[in-house]
Amino acid sequence: MIAKSAADLINKQKEHFLISADQVANVFEKNHLDHAFLVLTKIGYSKIPVLDKDQHFKGLISLSMITESMLGLNGIDPSNLSQRQVCEVMQKDVPVITDNDSLEEVLHLLVDQPFLVVVDSENIFKGIITRRELMKAINYMVHELDKKYEVNLRENLS
Ligand code: AMP
Repeated sequence: MIAKSAADLINKQKEHFLISADQVANVFEKNHLDHAFLVLTKIGYSKIPVLDKDQHFKGLISLSMITESMLGLNGIDPSNLSQRQVCEVMQKDVPVITDNDSLEEVLHLLVDQPFLVVVDSENIFKGIITRRELMKAINYMVHELDKKYEVNLRENLS
């Protein structure tokens, strides 16, 4: 259980650590792999969300998933990138969070992923929470905690 004072201070930064959907690079599940390859190369992020045309979250695509799809018996063959779609190679088993998930759950999931996808109850993509942005909020919390709350060591209380 996270201390309420710490959770309150971190949650105060929520609007900063949630990167909203309109700021997040994405591709559509029906895009061809050559398009996704170009987007990933240009933006410099290793993995980005995949959506359908109604903004539902469908999965994640990375450069390595695309490279893997190019591997053939005779080495790398990029010729089928313009025929295959993102949905054929994307990662589908992705943990997602909603606004109702606790900070504890978010922290727990971020141990193993560099960012988390946020969706609403209809699975519409709302944005991402990155480890980096959450670290900034934690940094704020550890600097502000004893300015805003009285923090006592239990052994001093007895
Ligand atoms: P960062 O902590 O900023 O390095 O981001 C961690 C990961 O989150 C990146 O490698 C991307 O996979 C993803 N990411 C962060 N910001 C964006 C963004 N604006 N658009 C798409 N993906 C992003």
